[in-house]
Amino acid sequence: MINTAIIGGGYAGMAAAVALAEKGIPVTVFESARHLGGRARGVAHQNTQLDNGQHLLLGCYHQTLRMIEQVGGNLEQDFLRQPLQLDLHGHFALRAPRLPAPLHLLVALLRAQGLTWAERLSAASFMLTLRRMNFKLPSPTSGESVTRGTKPVGGEGCDMTATELLARHGQSPALVQKLWEPLCIAALNTPVAIASAQVLLNVLRDALNQERADSDMLIPRIDFTALFPQRAAHYIEQRGGTVLTSCGAASLRPVEQGIEITTDQGCPESGQRIAMTYSHVICAIPPTTAAKLLRPIPALADVVAQIDALQHQPIYTVYLQYPSQVRLPHPMLGLHQRISQWLFDKGQIAGQYGLIACVISAEGLHQDWSQNELALKVIAELHAEFGINDTPLWHKVIAEKRATFACTPDLRRPDQQTPLPSLLLAGDYTKGDYPATLEGAIQSGLRCAELLSSSF
Ligand SMILES: Cc1cc2nc3c(=O)[nH]c(=O)nc-3n(C[C@H](O)[C@H](O)[C@H](O)COP(=O)(O)OP(=O)(O)OC[C@H]3O[C@@H](n4cnc5c(N)ncnc54)[C@H](O)[C@@H]3O)c2cc1C
Repeated sequence: MINTAIIGGGYAGMAAAVALAEKGIPVTVFESARHLGGRARGVAHQNTQLDNGQHLLLGCYHQTLRMIEQVGGNLEQDFLRQPLQLDLHGHFALRAPRLPAPLHLLVALLRAQGLTWAERLSAASFMLTLRRMNFKLPSPTSGESVTRGTKPVGGEGCDMTATELLARHGQSPALVQKLWEPLCIAALNTPVAIASAQVLLNVLRDALNQERADSDMLIPRIDFTALFPQRAAHYIEQRGGTVLTSCGAASLRPVEQGIEITTDQGCPESGQRIAMTYSHVICAIPPTTAAKLLRPIPALADVVAQIDALQHQPIYTVYLQYPSQVRLPHPMLGLHQRISQWLFDKGQIAGQYGLIACVISAEGLHQDWSQNELALKVIAELHAEFGINDTPLWHKVIAEKRATFACTPDLRRPDQQTPLPSLLLAGDYTKGDYPATLEGAIQSGLRCAELLSSSF
């Protein structure tokens, strides 16, 4: 008998569950938290709907956008959609005109404010070179050389850091600071000095090189639990599936008929620990918890070793509720050489007037400060940059210390298929082209669903 369990109700797990439910395959989702969404979830604070972190989607997140629509979302209503624009307040501004890709980007680079002519040309010619390379680092055996240098670079098994790639292509320090570093941190949540050049190229390939709409920036107007997982739960239940919250998996045991899951104490259905056997299990929980759950299974020792080897990077979001008249010059803008990296005016985005979200991605000095000190620094930066003299009515700092895996060169990420045919792995950290993103998570879930349904 086919009965499938999905452990983890984040974007990866819910995508897998939706895809299986669509095919009429019975699914049960086990989520340990009270609410679905995992690292992209709604959080209520002071009667205000927040997220555990401000997120941004790109137009090239095709699977994510498709899944949101499949479960009943309306992209026009759910998102503020803007053409690609990067604005580092007073230091750099790039805006893509309404031209076909990749012309839109080339014209945007050639018109960018805050760069010298030489830098604009250098950035545009770098993009053209990447296009000629098909956004792939050549393998050392291909004999190709990507720049003026003679040394061939990159390729399968010979990735490099983004810093190295940018230096080889003559990108000046100002270009790196104003354009490539903010892009790399936003996309990979990993500083350029240690970020994988190839994964950065994968994102640039999909976002900048195909359709103009792929580079659009989509900022959600509703919280991340409501955006997809909650709707997905409804979709699954309508097709006979079950979604259990506050009901985590405490242990897994391979048995003859598949995998036995023992639940946490106190799952709502039973009120106690229970063991159930499923013919197939998709484990879609974050890497550190996945390693804990899988460690006791000897056949998975190599998988666990791969997960253990992953490093992690934080993301901090500082929410500041100012009086409702406070607003920023744009719904989203960045700051140059400040602690605050990206600012989102939730008034302009979602009608939450006076609420500003400040995102600080990847490791940095801010990790040494108390949450109060960090909020005060951000408040001081907003005052210095925009002359905001008001005092916030409240602030809330959400520190996700293991927000994503550190996306470093030549990373070995565990495959969705494991040595146990009845157990699959989903999650943003599993094998894929993308860094830890919603799209990476959703793609991994869909891959698991595809592998499972093709095995029946
Ligand atoms: C602050 C922040 C900002 C981000 N910004 C962006 C962005 O702008 N754009 C973007 O694309 N991505 C962004 N990301 C990354 C994105 O949120 C993640 O890549 C994605 O949500 C990961 O989804 P997942 O399903 O793989 O894992 P998770 O979201 O971690 O889901 C795993 C689920 O498993 C549950 N679980 C854990 N243990 C158990 C257990 N034993 N039993 C049952 N359930 C269990 C967890 O509660 C969780 O709900 C951001 C992440 C953070 C933290």
